Order: sequence, then C-alpha cells, then structure tokens
Amino acid sequence: MERGTFQLMKSVNKSTILNKIRLSEPISRAEIAKETGITPPTVSSIVKELMAENLVEKSILGESKGGRKPTMLLLKRSGHYVIGIDAGSNKIRGIASDLVGTILAETEIEIQPHISKEIFLESLKKVVRTIFMGIEEKDTILGIGVAMHGVVDIASGVSLYSSNSGLRDVPIKEELEKEFNVLVMVENNSRAMALGEYWFKDHDEAESFVTINIGRGVGSGIVDKGRLCYGAQDIAGEIGHMVIDFHGKVCSCGNKGCLETLITGDAIVQRAKEQIEEAPDDLAAEAIYAYATEGKKDYLKVLEETGYLIGIGVVNLIHLLNPDKIVLGGGVMNSEEFLMPVIRNTIQKRALTEKARMYTKIEVSTLKEDATILGAAALLLAELF
Ligand SMILES: [Zn+2]
Repeated sequence: MERGTFQLMKSVNKSTILNKIRLSEPISRAEIAKETGITPPTVSSIVKELMAENLVEKSILGESKGGRKPTMLLLKRSGHYVIGIDAGSNKIRGIASDLVGTILAETEIEIQPHISKEIFLESLKKVVRTIFMGIEEKDTILGIGVAMHGVVDIASGVSLYSSNSGLRDVPIKEELEKEFNVLVMVENNSRAMALGEYWFKDHDEAESFVTINIGRGVGSGIVDKGRLCYGAQDIAGEIGHMVIDFHGKVCSCGNKGCLETLITGDAIVQRAKEQIEEAPDDLAAEAIYAYATEGKKDYLKVLEETGYLIGIGVVNLIHLLNPDKIVLGGGVMNSEEFLMPVIRNTIQKRALTEKARMYTKIEVSTLKEDATILGAAALLLAELF
C-alpha cells in the first residue's frame, strides 16, 4: 500500500463500519445497519469496497437464526500487515502483526545503553529489515509504528531526548520512511503501551484510564475517552520524573528523588544490595523475585517496599487525574503477586475520598510486555480505522 492510501479511509461512514466490524465481528450487514444507523444500501456498498481493499472478508461460519443464513463479516486476517517496533534503551524488538494484533513474526537485538545516534538508527533499521524481508508482498504493509523510550515529537517523528540512553534529536520517521517507503509513526513507549491496552483489550469507550509502564524507566500514558493525552509540549504522563523524595538519589534527568530512582528494575536491585548484606554482586531483578518466592524475608521486604513506593506514585496520579482505571505493566510488574497487595493497601490508606478508594480500578496489564509493541502497531491501525 502506497503512502497516502489512508486518505481512502476518510469517509466517516466507512470508518464507522470498519470499526463496527472490528469491535463486533463476526457481524452481518443487517446488524451493522441496525447498530450504526447507516442505511442498508450504504452499508452494502461500503462493505463491497472494504472487501475489494482486502480489509474485510466473509466468514465461512455464518450463524443461522432460522430462515436465510446471513453472511457474517470479519476483518481479513491475511490482507494487511503492520510492523511494530519497541525501541528500548537496551534492546530493540520488532513484530509483524495483522489487523487484529496477532503477532506473526518477531525479532530483537540487544543494544548498548549509550550509543551514537548513527548506531542506534542502524540497529533500528536492522530490526525493521528483518521483519520487512519476512513479508512477501510488500504492498500489504500498512506502515511502521515505533514506540521509542524518552520524549518524542509526534509530528516530525523525532526522538527529542532520552535520559536513559543519552540520545538526542534522532530523526526516526524520516530515516525509516526514506529506506522503507511506507508510513512511519513514532510515539513515546509509555503512550504506545496505553494505546495497545486501549486498542486490544476491552475498555469501555467512555472510560478514562492511565497505564504505567515500570521497567528500565517509568512512564505513563493517559487515555481520556478514547484519546491519548499529550499536554502542551508532549510530556504529559512523565510520571517517572515526579519527585517523591527531594533528598533522594540523583535521577538520570538530573533532578533528585524522582519516582524512577525508586521503582525501576535497577533501582530495586540497588535497594536490595544496600539492605541485604549477603546479596550477590550480580543480583538481578528476576533473582529478587525468585528469592521472595522461596520465602526469603529480606527480599520479600524489598518488594513490599517497592509496592509501597509504586502505591505512592499511583495515589499522586489518582489525586491529579482521578481516572476510572489504572493499568500497570512492564517488567517490574512480573512480581505482581508481591507488589499488588501493597499497592492496593496504599491506595486504601492514602486516597482522599472513600469513592476514589472504592472505585478506582487497578490492574496489571494482561498483554504483559507485548502491550507496548502492540501499541506501536496500533499507531498505524488508529490511522486506518
Ligand atoms: Zn527524573
């Protein structure tokens, strides 16, 4: 598909019908007409167009409700692909996905934390090339979505600043479009995670929710009534740099005591080493979880303390935005069995009103570490649908 083909989708009716099929498939033309209020002849003619564009197909399993069997419609799985990239500070992962988020191919490479712009871009292209080569018909590729750590300028697709890798002003969109000649969209990784959650999980459309990504860094994505929030300078949601302890450790951003200095995988390891005399030098975050599972009290205490600190961040977020729901994800949340009870308890103790304590839903993403990369793929889907 050539760049610019998305303009074909600009018809409101077409977009409404495609979304209806996406959210309610399998669905018949009659049901689409009934549920969208678009007239049956218009539905029929648009469905015909969508089928010609390989976006929709007939289901072979039409359900009979007595009388004539209606033809059920589905999104076409094999018609189009999107490429999603999760560009972290220590690895770059790439996937090819169909329109419903099935991961069809994936690859990843490790990168050094502090590398030059050129090496970073070359590594990124290498991952995209591997995925690109695996797809035979290149014109079925709708585009490439990149979830980049750090601050991103959405319009130009430039990675402005990353405190974790020290990268500045990386023209991701321009470089990838030049080589692969498809639409490229770039988004901050935590916002991409929020989009992945919104797109691929069942969330009520009226709901406002916040996802918090806790891994090597900490960020959040805010979705208000189906829309991602950016703020005036694109840094809305940078919860990792919310100051929790102004006498605390120096953060990668230069400030002291940011949430990020307390709850990332590395921060947890550091705290464990400070508190536990016999902790091995090469202690990894995964090992802390394993020791806690074995019942070692010192390690359990470190995780409970982490749950408390995450809880403090979450309570601040509740007071600032009062969302319906908070979804936690990222590698650190693999220890959810130890963290979640303390996080919940902290909300119960600290949130301002009884209603906020009772009704703020808090859960761990079931997409796990795929939320971000699927969100990267969804950047393109959000354009199409
Ligand atoms: Zn900071």
